[in-house]
Amino acid sequence: MEIRGFVKKMKYMQRILVSFCILLLIGTCARPRNTESDTWDVRARSSMVRNQIVARGITDTLVIKAMTEIPRHEFVPREYQHMAYGDFPLPIGEGQTISQPYIVALMTEEIELVSSDRVLEIGTGSGYQAAVLAIICEEVYSIEIVPSLAENAGTLLKELGYNNVHVKCGDGFLGWPEAAPFDAIIITCAPKTVPEPLIEQLTEGGRLIVPLGDDFQMLTLFIKTEGELQRDELIPVRFVPMKGKIEEYE
Ligand code: SAH
Repeated sequence: MEIRGFVKKMKYMQRILVSFCILLLIGTCARPRNTESDTWDVRARSSMVRNQIVARGITDTLVIKAMTEIPRHEFVPREYQHMAYGDFPLPIGEGQTISQPYIVALMTEEIELVSSDRVLEIGTGSGYQAAVLAIICEEVYSIEIVPSLAENAGTLLKELGYNNVHVKCGDGFLGWPEAAPFDAIIITCAPKTVPEPLIEQLTEGGRLIVPLGDDFQMLTLFIKTEGELQRDELIPVRFVPMKGKIEEYE
């Protein structure tokens, strides 16, 4: 009787031990790939880069590295920070938007930057695209027509330590003659035609990317070859319209 009781107790203990081991195993296997010390934004960024950028064919390691590093949530208003790594553009105030992450990656990859490049951006907006450029190349010049956006982006970029970005408030139509020529120009608002001063401020062999059009816009890449522009149409896109002097030409 005593032995039977003992065996029963042992079986019971064994069952508890097996259940404990199974639970331990499930716990270990179900752990996410990121480490526990990663903050929410580090996890969100790595999933953004994996699922929205690499999965869609972006291969430029400099672009991938920059977008893995930059705290995109810092560039959007507080109420949208939890959505900053989503697959869509977001409002940044003044009726303007920060572009969808994939479009930022595609435009940056298409202008084939090298570290010694000097780049001009038209449409600073939140400053996020400028930060991506700043990690990849030497000097970034960015022009924003809305004063409050220019000021906020300039301050934020400084605070985050992107010291090679120069932001000014003005009409990007005129470019930045004192800092020209540029190896690449990225226009992140939509004109119907490319402003002439920007073509002049591009180096020989320089690349210019722009969403061209109004209701229908085509992301278009130009390469300056022997003073002429070679044109390559990429994909349809939707950007806010370019304002200012360009409106006199349309
Ligand atoms: N690159 C930005 C998104 C740009 S949204 C980012 O990473 O967040 C387009 C921006 O272009 C808006 O902020 C708008 O105010 C600006 N813009 C429109 N017309 C402009 C012009 N003529 N010169 C400079 N900026 C202009």
